Amino acid sequence: MRIVLVGPPGAGKGTQAAFLAKNLSIPHISTGDLFRANISQNTELGRRAKAFMDAGDLVPDEITIGMAKDRMEQPDAVNGFLLDGFPRNVSQAEALDGMLEEAGMKLDAVLDLEVEEDEVVKRIAGRRICRNDSAHVFHVVYAAPKTPGVCDTCGGELYQREDDSEATVRNRLEVYHTQTEPIIDYYKAQGLLVTIPALGEVADVTQRAMDALKK
Ligand code: ADP
Repeated sequence: MRIVLVGPPGAGKGTQAAFLAKNLSIPHISTGDLFRANISQNTELGRRAKAFMDAGDLVPDEITIGMAKDRMEQPDAVNGFLLDGFPRNVSQAEALDGMLEEAGMKLDAVLDLEVEEDEVVKRIAGRRICRNDSAHVFHVVYAAPKTPGVCDTCGGELYQREDDSEATVRNRLEVYHTQTEPIIDYYKAQGLLVTIPALGEVADVTQRAMDALKK
């Protein structure tokens, strides 16, 4: 299956993507994670992306699209993938369509995780991520680790992402409304859009998404 996950920052894309990818046996491809890995390895690409990310802006398409394409062409992605955070604007969506068409493939579904803005801000402000694996996500109130600052899963150090500060979150939401939301209509027009209410327990949201994909 080839699936795209969309939704505002804090909707739980990363959390849901990890579960869904496991259930469906396809790789979870997160452009945010790819950028963060490049930044922590201090690559040229990471150095170019960092200032945009820290400000909560989109990294320019000429950096992002090539990186996403390289990742989608890896051998583990031949039978499908779950895209998380890509595409994030209409020109990226068009580029993705172009790549898939060239390879004789198409998307199976676009899942839109729907959650209101107040909730998103609360989720992001308390979010803590494991240094070892960004799929290990906690929240100081909603999903507190047993020991503050320590990952329950692997013992890694938990940290707050630089772009999770309140001012940056506001900008990310603005960027989401102006640049990313238009792809929802783009995919609706293709008949691919499935809206998933993303409130409630993590496992319930995953189940809603799995049920929607079965249809
Ligand atoms: P979230 O979904 O919580 O906002 P991500 O980890 O997906 O977080 O993305 C973090 C940041 O990485 C974005 O704010 C943006 O700067 C950059 N980024 C990720 N994916 C893309 C993309 N497809 N195009 C441009 N920038 C991106």
